[in-house]
Amino acid sequence: MKLKQWFSGILSALFMWSAASVMSLSALAVSAQAADEPEVVVYSSRKEHLIKPVFDAFTKETGIKVSYLTGKDNALIERVKAEGRATPADVLMTVDAGNLWYAASQDLFQPIQTQQVAKAIPAHLRDPQGLWTGLSIRARTIVYSTERVKPDELSSYEALAEPQWKGRLCLRTAKKVYTKSLVSALLAHNGQDKTEQMVKGWVSNLASAPMAKDSHIMDAILAGQCDVGLVNTYYFGRLQEKQPDVALKLFWANQNSTGTHVNVSGAGVLKHAKHPELANKLLSWLVSEQAQGLFASLNKEYPANPEVPADPLVAKWGRFKQDDLNLQKVGALQADAVRLMQRMGYR
Ligand code: FE
Repeated sequence: MKLKQWFSGILSALFMWSAASVMSLSALAVSAQAADEPEVVVYSSRKEHLIKPVFDAFTKETGIKVSYLTGKDNALIERVKAEGRATPADVLMTVDAGNLWYAASQDLFQPIQTQQVAKAIPAHLRDPQGLWTGLSIRARTIVYSTERVKPDELSSYEALAEPQWKGRLCLRTAKKVYTKSLVSALLAHNGQDKTEQMVKGWVSNLASAPMAKDSHIMDAILAGQCDVGLVNTYYFGRLQEKQPDVALKLFWANQNSTGTHVNVSGAGVLKHAKHPELANKLLSWLVSEQAQGLFASLNKEYPANPEVPADPLVAKWGRFKQDDLNLQKVGALQADAVRLMQRMGYR
C-alpha cells in the first residue's frame, strides 16, 4: 500500500513535470517564433513619409517587417562605417549616385544577389559591380520664368554660360551633391577645358550667390531676381502640386547632345547585413512594377523601371532623352568636379 502510494505520487509528479515542461517548451517555441519573425533593417536618407507607405505595402505582401532609421546621407554612411560588423542595418537607402558611389568606395556594400534588379533597372542607373541600384530617377534640368524667357532661347547646360544670361542665372551651391554630380557628368562628356569654360561662364552669369536649396532657386525666379536656374524635377513637381499655375516651366537640357542629366535615389545591401536574403527580397520587390509607381510618385520622381508609367503630374512634363552615362562614373568624377569648381570660383 505504501509502495502503491509512493508509486502514484511519483507518477503524478512525473505527469506534472512533463506537463509543465511541455508548457514551457511551447511557450519557448512561441517566443522563439516572435524573435525569428522576419525583419529587414533599413537605414534611409529618404524621409519617412516617402518610404513608410512603400515598406507597409512590402510587409503586407510578404509578411516581412521593415524597421528603419532615417537621417542625413553623410551621417548614415558614417554610422554604418563606425558600426562595422556590429551594424544592425541590412540596407542603405540614399539619394544621389554621388552618395551611393561614396558608400561603395568605403566598402560598405556587398553585391546585390537578386536577378530582378538587373532585369528591371537600366544599366546606367546601377553600379557595374552590382553594389547598388537606382530605385527612382530625378532629372536635374533647366527651370525658367514663363514671363521673361522663351523656350527657344534655351538649349543646354553649356549654353547657360553664354553672355545673354549675364545676371539672370540662379544656381545651387557647389557643395551640394546634386551640383557635383551634374558637373561630373558634364566633365565626363566634355572634358576639362570645356567644363572649366562652362563653369566660369555660369559663375559670371549668376544673379546672386549660389543658393542652399532648389526651392530657393524657384522662389528667386518667381521674385524676378533671376530668369533661369537648374533644379531637380521633383522640387518643381512639389511646387506645381501646390500652385498648378506657377509661372515656371521645365526645359529638357541637352536634347540635341548628351541628354538631360539624371540621377537616382537608390539602395544597396550592406556588407555586414544580418539578413542579406531579406534585403535582396526587399530590393527585388522595390524594383517590381507593383512597387515602382508608388515609390516614385510619393516624391514626384520617375520610376527607374522603364516599364512603369510616371505619376500623371510628372508625365505632363513630357518625354525627354536621358543622359545614359553610367552613374558610377558620375560618382567617381566628383572629386575632380569639386576641384574644377573651386578653381573657377563656383562656391
Ligand atoms: Fe533633394
